[in-house]
Amino acid sequence: MATISRRLIFSPVPKKLFRNCQFLSTTKKYDSKSSTSSRLDPCQSASMLDIGTRRIFNEEHDIFRQTVRRFMVDEVVPNHPKWEEDGQVSKEVWQKAGTMGFLGIDTPEEHGGIGGDFITSSIVMEEQSYCNCSGLGWALHSHIVMPYISHYGNKEQIEKFLPKMTAGQCIGAIAMTEPGAGSDLQGVRTSAKKDGTDYILNGSKVYITNGYMSDLVIVVAITNPSAKSTAHGISLFLVEEGMKGFVKGKKLKKMGLKAQDTAELFFEDVRLPKSSLLGEENKGFYYLMKELPQERLLIAVMGIASCEYMFEETRKYLSERKAFGKTLSKLQVIQHKMAELKTEIACNRAFVDRCIELHNEGKLDSSTASMVKYWVSELQNRVAYQCVQLHGGMGYMMECGIARAYLDARVQPIYGGSSEIMKELIARQIFS
Ligand SMILES: Cc1cc2nc3c(=O)[nH]c(=O)nc-3n(C[C@H](O)[C@H](O)[C@H](O)COP(=O)(O)OP(=O)(O)OC[C@H]3O[C@@H](n4cnc5c(N)ncnc54)[C@H](O)[C@@H]3O)c2cc1C
Repeated sequence: MATISRRLIFSPVPKKLFRNCQFLSTTKKYDSKSSTSSRLDPCQSASMLDIGTRRIFNEEHDIFRQTVRRFMVDEVVPNHPKWEEDGQVSKEVWQKAGTMGFLGIDTPEEHGGIGGDFITSSIVMEEQSYCNCSGLGWALHSHIVMPYISHYGNKEQIEKFLPKMTAGQCIGAIAMTEPGAGSDLQGVRTSAKKDGTDYILNGSKVYITNGYMSDLVIVVAITNPSAKSTAHGISLFLVEEGMKGFVKGKKLKKMGLKAQDTAELFFEDVRLPKSSLLGEENKGFYYLMKELPQERLLIAVMGIASCEYMFEETRKYLSERKAFGKTLSKLQVIQHKMAELKTEIACNRAFVDRCIELHNEGKLDSSTASMVKYWVSELQNRVAYQCVQLHGGMGYMMECGIARAYLDARVQPIYGGSSEIMKELIARQIFS
């Protein structure tokens, strides 16, 4: 506890968010004087999804979490099967989220965001995992795309895009990966050639989250092909839906994340005005390196919450499913398996919460972010495998949440930097 500053613990949920908060009918009354030190860890509470646990949060966060949970139950869960068929969520749910203040939470208010912190932001991401609805590409929009504009954009770019992104009226994507460049970004071939003060963009990108629905895409392109290394010749551009030559390919068919749109993007002589350049020319690689730790943390935040969801679903199933005259939960081999899972999840929850705190204080380094991303995304897959097994045949049916969680988990050690690349980054710090 001593390591957590009072300012951090008692950082208020921004007023904008609090205005939207409603108590659920089942809400217990919170004692506003109760100390955060009296909060249980999730492994000590009746359910790992209980509201009112974890010392990184306070009572205001709990009330906000209830509002988010209600929104997920009312607006997301009932629509998700249709979105899975469509391969995308609705535009409407983005706008509703914007009205509720769920987007751009940690973007400063003076930049058109909500003006909260990363701790509050993590609540929305966790609640998405707790309802097992992976379609919403909000985390990438709010905590990957918006920060680039907030950190490196000029006044005009900030004013043009960020308020609309907070309102859910402008959907953001980021396009780094290409058919020939994924783990190794130095293989990027998309180019932006100078033409007077404009740039002419040519190339293609693949596997882009929110790509199909995007109104705005941050595109990574080469601006100096003769730089001493590609890293010194990369820039970032703000490419808008409707620009001539910007073509969206088909929505890609994936094994999981069925309701999340993932698309190919093509750029054919797209004329970009100078005002589309984000930050300084040829500084793109440096910006990417600065922002990637947050992307890795998001994956861990959602991953550990998914582990908690899967554990609780499985606990419920085992307590009801009967075999050999008693519920499966009475068999020692099953109990030991659940004991192993709970212990692993609890250890990782502690690490993730510490990383959330560190990031909130601006102290999360690349190596630690890589460790948490690597370990949690691999754990998520181990937990998913075991939970399907513990569900038997039911776990293999798509109507079962565990089957969907299993398929969704598989991409976690791949995107945002694969586990192999995370180990490279961790090792680099060990032997630096
Ligand atoms: C659903 C989904 C959504 C995505 N969303 C986005 C997005 O929004 N924006 C975006 O830009 N990209 C996105 N991606 C792309 C993703 O980030 C890349 O797929 C990922 O970085 C891996 O790159 P790759 O697919 O080219 O694999 P490769 O780089 O070809 O790697 C193949 C294998 O080789 C291993 N490998 C590569 N290099 C090394 C090495 N040096 N040492 C050891 N092993 C190595 C990798 O770990 C991997 O196992 C998304 C991908 C998916 C599947």
